[in-house]
This record gives sequence, C-alpha cells and structure tokens, in this order.
Amino acid sequence: MNQHFDLVIIGGGCAGLSLAYQLSQLGDSCPKTLIIEERANYTNDRTWCFWDLEDPIHKDLAPYAWKKFTIKNHHVAHEYSCQETPYLMLPSDVFYKNVLSVINSNNKIQLLTGEKIVDQVTKESAWLIPTSKFMATATNVVDTRPIKTMTKKDSLMWQSFVGYEVELNSPLFNEDQLVLMDFDSIFKEGLAFIYCLPTSKTKALIEYTVFSEELFVAEQLTKRLLEKIGEYTQNTSYKILRQEAAILPMGNKEIDQQEDPTYLFAGLFAGAARPSSGYAFQRIQTWAKECAFELKNNHQLKRFKKDSFIQKWMDLLFITVIKKNPTIGAKVFEELFKNCEAKTVAKFMSDHSSIWDKLKIVTSLPALPFLLAIPELIRSKHRLDRSS
Ligand SMILES: Cc1cc2nc3c(=O)[nH]c(=O)nc-3n(C[C@H](O)[C@H](O)[C@H](O)COP(=O)(O)OP(=O)(O)OC[C@H]3O[C@@H](n4cnc5c(N)ncnc54)[C@H](O)[C@@H]3O)c2cc1C
Repeated sequence: MNQHFDLVIIGGGCAGLSLAYQLSQLGDSCPKTLIIEERANYTNDRTWCFWDLEDPIHKDLAPYAWKKFTIKNHHVAHEYSCQETPYLMLPSDVFYKNVLSVINSNNKIQLLTGEKIVDQVTKESAWLIPTSKFMATATNVVDTRPIKTMTKKDSLMWQSFVGYEVELNSPLFNEDQLVLMDFDSIFKEGLAFIYCLPTSKTKALIEYTVFSEELFVAEQLTKRLLEKIGEYTQNTSYKILRQEAAILPMGNKEIDQQEDPTYLFAGLFAGAARPSSGYAFQRIQTWAKECAFELKNNHQLKRFKKDSFIQKWMDLLFITVIKKNPTIGAKVFEELFKNCEAKTVAKFMSDHSSIWDKLKIVTSLPALPFLLAIPELIRSKHRLDRSS
C-alpha cells in the first residue's frame, strides 16, 4: 500500500462514509483517500429518520415513509397529517451497503476496516497517522471519532434512548401511522416518551427516549421500555429482532478544532447534532456535500456550518424549558403540534425554516415558561462555555 494520501478519514461511520460517498462522485478528481474504521463489519446498528423536505440526500434509499403521526399525552392521542413532508426511515444497514458499493467503485478511495488509530496524530511535513500495522501520512485529515468519555457537563441536555425492533405473531400495528411522541408521566427524571415506528402490521421499532440533564444508559431504561412494549403489543407474545441505543447530545460543547485547517474534527460532537433534537443525519449529509465540493475546488476542508443566531437561541431556550420542568415539556410539544402545521415544525427541525416559520413556532408556544427560562439559559450557557 502506498502510504501517503491526500486525505485520511478517521472513522468510517455516518460522517466518514458520507464524505467518502460525496468524494467518490468526483471520479478522477477524487482525492486519494484512506478511511480507517475500527469496526470489522457493518451491521444494522441504528435507524436514521428525517423529514422529506427539500429533497433530502439519500431519500431514495429510505424504504419506509409515514404520512401520518400521533402525539399522545395523558393517554389522549392527537393525530396529524404530514402528507406534504412524510417522515422517512433509513435503516443503517441499507445506508452502509449502498454507500459502500459506490465508494468501492472509485479506486482512489480505500477503506480499511478492523483497524484503528493507536496513538496521537502528529504533524511533520505531513500528518502522521499511526495505525496498528503501518504509519499513514496525509495532507488532510478528517477525524470523526466520537467522544468516548461523555460527561454530564459536555452538553446542556442529553437524549438517551433504547429501542427494540419487535415482531408479533399476529397483525396488530397500524403501519400507516407512526407514534412520534407518547409521553410517559411516570418517569420523573426527565421528559420521557415512546417513539414507535411500525414497518408492517407485525413489525415495529419501539423506543423509550428521555430528554434530561443526566445521561441514562440502555439498562436504566429497559424496564420501562418493556412495560411500554407490553402496552403496544397488548401483551401478546413477540420476538425481539434487534436492539439499538444511544446517548445523543442536545446543545453540546463542540470539539475544539485545531488551528491547522488541514485537520478537521467532524461528526456528532463537531457541530452535527441539532440541539433541540440531537439528530444529525441530514446535517452530516449537507456538510459532506459541501466539504467534498471545497476539497475539489479549493483543496481545503470545510467545517460544519454554524446554526443561525436565531435558530441556535430558539433551540437552547426550548431545551432549557424542558430541562427545568419536564412536565411542561410534554405540554409544550403538545401545543406546538396543535397550533402549528406539521410542515412548519418539520421545516424548523430540518434547518429549513424561514423567519416567518420561526415566528409561527414562537407564537404557538406558551410564553410564560419560555420567559421564565431565559435566566437559567444564560447561566447554563456560561457554564458550558467556561468548561471549554
Ligand atoms: C441508535 C442511533 C439512532 C440515531 N437515530 C438518528 C435519527 O433517527 N436521525 C438523525 O438525524 N440522527 C440519528 N442519530 C444521530 C446521528 O445521526 C448518528 O449518531 C450518526 O451515526 C453520527 O455520525 P458520526 O459519523 O458522527 O458517528 P458514527 O456514525 O458513530 O461514526 C464514528 C465511527 O468512528 C469509528 N471509530 C471510533 N473510534 C475509532 C478509532 N480509534 N479508529 C478508527 N475508527 C474509529 C466508529 O467505529 C464509527 O464507525 C442516531 C444515533 C444512534 C447511535
């Protein structure tokens, strides 16, 4: 193997593969790229959902789409149509298989799986990237390794969840309608809800999610998930096909970028996670496309775009209200969907909202909890900035 590369991507997960996918489209203009990925195999380890708005990247890969959703609070269900902006679901194994086949078709890109970085990456005349078998050198590095040691103080709030994909013996689920949020008032340490994605009459991914200041590992949420699955399956027997779990940041302290512009941190903790939802998939896709364009035309890396001032502060205020009082949090979501068109909320969640949409969001929310949360937001933002 020739060991010098124009670009080394550390971590071939969502961000690393998405960038490589975009670069592979450049044909002969693609920089000579090496992806170093720790895992040996790609599996169906997560499910990416996003709204079908403004032609989202990889929309065509998503096998599931819902045009109706439910919001449930205190056992009262409200049904909404999202006909104009369906909610799409892309299982990660479908994504990995498709992007890997495109990446592999460009011989300027090499993917090394089952390999990891074993020491610090340093710079001499080029970046030195030590793997267990050889030293790769590179002009540019994109580092997508996640933060392994997350602590409470690294983010204003966290989204912790665990979900099981279950299969029933007899048809019960309504596959035309997903449950976006079914709030659980029994859970007191955060805003908790069930998220249920039925992919057929007998199969669904059912997740138990908590928005809170604390981080919850899967085992802490499993008991309540199983109780809720009991309700959703009417206590009939079911098989667990697979599990997925995560702790996603909501309003995180971003990784400090290096001063040298030829080394870029990217991915979930480098600006990809949207504060109000923790979601990152489409934001990663947009960055990957822009970064590939920048590399081709200016031979430079591109950072994640900062959120607009208004969107950022709306998000931070929103999560502060939920953090202060999870009971009000459920009411806030209920009011939001009741008073605002689904399309407006989807546009806001997908970084596509105009000033007019933002105004509609603001006016559909109860004013008092938001006004009361402003001092707390300023205090916690100071704490987060000081800890950087
Ligand atoms: C279960 C789950 C469900 C999610 N659902 C959604 C959703 O519905 N919608 C949405 O928008 N977002 C969702 N997200 C959030 C976000 O989109 C994902 O976390 C996404 O995978 C982030 O991409 P990434 O590249 O930053 O991290 P990853 O995809 O985790 O990639 C990082 C890669 O780095 C590799 N790595 C780590 N250490 C090393 C090392 N030392 N050397 C080499 N490689 C290394 C890892 O093996 C991994 O492949 C979800 C996340 C999870 C975990």
